[in-house]
Parts: sequence; C-alpha cells; structure tokens
Amino acid sequence: MAETNKALKEKLFTQKKNGWDRIGAAEAKKVDGYCRDYKAFLNAGKTERLCAAEIVRLAEEAGYRPYERGMALQSGDKVYLCNRGKSVLLAFLGTKTLEEGAQITAAHIDSPRLDLKPNPLYEDSEIAYLKTHYYGGLRKYQWPTIPLELRGVIAMKDGTVKTVNIGADDGDPKLVITDLLPHLGAEQSKKPLGEAVPAETLNLVVGSRPVGSEEGGDRVKLAVMQLLNEKYGIVEDDFTSAELEAVPAADACDIGLDRSLIGSYGHDDRVCAYAALRALLDLTDTPEKTSVCVLADKEEIGSCGVTGMQSAAFDTFMEDLCDAQDVPVRVCFEKSFCLSADVTAAFDPNFAEVYEKRNDCQINYGIGLCKYTGARGKSGASDANAETVAYVRRLFDDAKVIWQLGEMGKIDAGGGGTVALYMANRNITTLDAGVPVLSMHAPFEVVAKLDCYETYKGMKAVYESK
Ligand code: MN
Ligand code: MN
Repeated sequence: MAETNKALKEKLFTQKKNGWDRIGAAEAKKVDGYCRDYKAFLNAGKTERLCAAEIVRLAEEAGYRPYERGMALQSGDKVYLCNRGKSVLLAFLGTKTLEEGAQITAAHIDSPRLDLKPNPLYEDSEIAYLKTHYYGGLRKYQWPTIPLELRGVIAMKDGTVKTVNIGADDGDPKLVITDLLPHLGAEQSKKPLGEAVPAETLNLVVGSRPVGSEEGGDRVKLAVMQLLNEKYGIVEDDFTSAELEAVPAADACDIGLDRSLIGSYGHDDRVCAYAALRALLDLTDTPEKTSVCVLADKEEIGSCGVTGMQSAAFDTFMEDLCDAQDVPVRVCFEKSFCLSADVTAAFDPNFAEVYEKRNDCQINYGIGLCKYTGARGKSGASDANAETVAYVRRLFDDAKVIWQLGEMGKIDAGGGGTVALYMANRNITTLDAGVPVLSMHAPFEVVAKLDCYETYKGMKAVYESK
C-alpha cells in the first residue's frame, strides 16, 4: 500500500520541534534546577577574574586539586590550573592514556565591557569622571543610562593586589554614563547608530561634590581620589597598573511570565562555560578518555594574549599531562576532539531581515551546532568536516540531547568567530556548538533555559564519548 504524504514527509523530511514538546515534566524540573545554579554562577562572576575564581571554588568543592608540574597522575585524578587568575584549565584523567586523545570542551569567560583607561580620572565642569576604553565588539549606544559597577584589581608596586568592588554590594553607590536628552538630540538622532555615541563619550560619572572651600579647580576629582585613597589606599598613579572593568550592575533574572528565559549580562560565553564546567564536575564515573575543560580569556578581542586560546598555556598544560604518561602531546592532539562551546545568534523575529530562516538557530530548539562561523565566505572559520558533524550528531542523539544546526544570520550580514580555529590549528578535530542568544553582546542578553540545559547535556556527552 502506498504511503501517505504525511508518513513520507515524516520519514524523509527534517522534523523540527520545539524543545518543550520533546521533554517531560521530570526533565523540565531539571532545566529549572540547573538554571537556578547558572544564575548564581553569573552573579558571582561578572568579570573574567571573578568568574575564574568562582570556577576554582566550584572545582575544589568537587574534589579538583591544583595541578603542579611533575605531579604523579593516574586514572581518576582530577586537576585544575588557573592561568594568571583569568582562565582555568581542568582535567579528569581517563581510564585510557592520553595516547588515545582527550575529549575537550573550550569556552570563554571574558565578556564585552568598558575597561578603564590607564589615566582615567578627570574633572570637567565640576563633575568627576572615569574614562573608559571598550573591550570587545559592543554597541556603544547600549551602555549609557544604565547602572554600572566597577570591578577588578589594582596591582601595587610592592606586589600586593587590591580588589576593587564599587557598586556590587547592597547599598553601594553605582556608576553611570549619561546620554543626551531627546530635546537636544536632534542632530545626534540623525547619525548612524554606530556613530551616535562616540567611544570617547563613554565616561563614567563618579562624583560631583567638591572638597574643601579653597578656590581652584579639580576639587571634585580630589574628593573622589580621597575616597579611593581611604577605601583602597591608592594614589592616582596606581591606576596605571590596574585592571578595572565597568560592567552592568544588575543580577541575572528570569524573563517572561512563563519564566522560560534568563536575562543577564555575560551569557556570552559564561552560559557555555558553565555548561562545560558543570558537566565535568558532575561526572560520577571516571571517563574512558581524559576529559579536559578549557575556560579561556580574551576571546572577545581575538583570543590573543597569555590568557587567550592562542596562548601556549593550553599546550603547556596538555604537554605536562602527556609527559606524566610518556605520550607526545602531538599524538594526543591528533586523536583528540574539541567542542568549541560558544554562543550563537538566536533568530529574532524583530530583525528577521538579517537572518536566513532555513539555516538559523531558534531559542528553545536546543544547543546550536555550527559547522562553520566566520565572515565573508567563512573567513576565519575552522569549518569542521562532515565526518566531525556526523560524529557529534550521533553523540548527541545517543545521549538524547536536543540540538539544532545553523549559521549566524544571513551571508554577508556580518559574522563572527570563536576559539574553534585555534583548537583546529593545533591538529585537534573541532566543532562549534553553543547556546543561541538574543541581544548578544548587549549589557543584558537573553537565553532560553531549555537551551542552557541541553548544552550542559551536550557537554556531558562529549566527556562520556568512548
Ligand atoms: Mn563568545
Ligand atoms: Mn562574543
């Protein structure tokens, strides 16, 4: 008997289905529990340093020990290495040796933000400001008129490091960047979005009350410097060896009446970093292949620098682990697999014109695989081969992970990169995958809870792959 078209379509066509139609009540409960912990992780780590510290805390709680070169290692051992306080490498030694390769996940923990310039403090018209230099690809118009907090460190010449936190604790004052009122914004409103708020106007208001009664300028700046001196024991010169970052002063929260979404600063890429970390920490049995989790810094500015994915810090860590087993690291790399875990663009019906509906990731459709990223004809992409995509399809289907495959918007609409090519350059088979994000790189990004949890399941499947 001839099959009906409906049956034929079911057999032959790709079946797209909203993730909520594919999970039961028990799974939905797990989604909620997981996302509660994820929100706490976001709030604890608004900068790469704070995030690295939280990762170390969670890792130690789960029995991971700091790695030291030359340490005897055996199957079942759990170690981590914190690279200069800004990135973390973790490994769970498998039952097989590293000659069989490692199962690696790589995400990043830096997010777009406003860094202070080396000489930031000044006074203009009896208002004190801090000058900023933006970090990463942010849309400058999104940063004025939102409460900001200042986090980071001041490294003193005597070797001590002061931790700065202005605006994060209850009752703390916050900082802000002002914008033009619409009444006087006629000219500004005619400018292209990218030019309406020049980077040199992203100056943080830090005070307006002058000190003393003497004549002369800079009395507001002096008052602010006095407060900083009282709180941190610093003088103006000390800004030169500081890393201070202005980040949104708002905690992660549920979005939507159905609480299906999470709004927060820094989903890119802490949403994948947390999934990669948590999946590793939750492994109960020793994996067959060694599980490695890389949580890198500097992705947003090109993965450069000593704490970025291009740094030899990763190779050194892997070589050290390999040395303990008398395995050449190059042999380990060529047998390894890496899931480059970074967020992707979620289809936004408000801006449908920049997406290509047949090849985009949608919220609530699970972790988004990207065979390639890049721009202008895949430039800058590692472009995984078909066999690699097939391997991950099988892996995810076997582990009942809800996943989708997409590109990031229309061809030539823009584009973006991840750490994937730097892993692939090392002769490691690599594929991109991550959570679809709405308003990516904004001070307040949105993700779907279901996708967060499915990404966690995906990471777990990578570690557990035989
Ligand atoms: Mn990213
Ligand atoms: Mn990014």
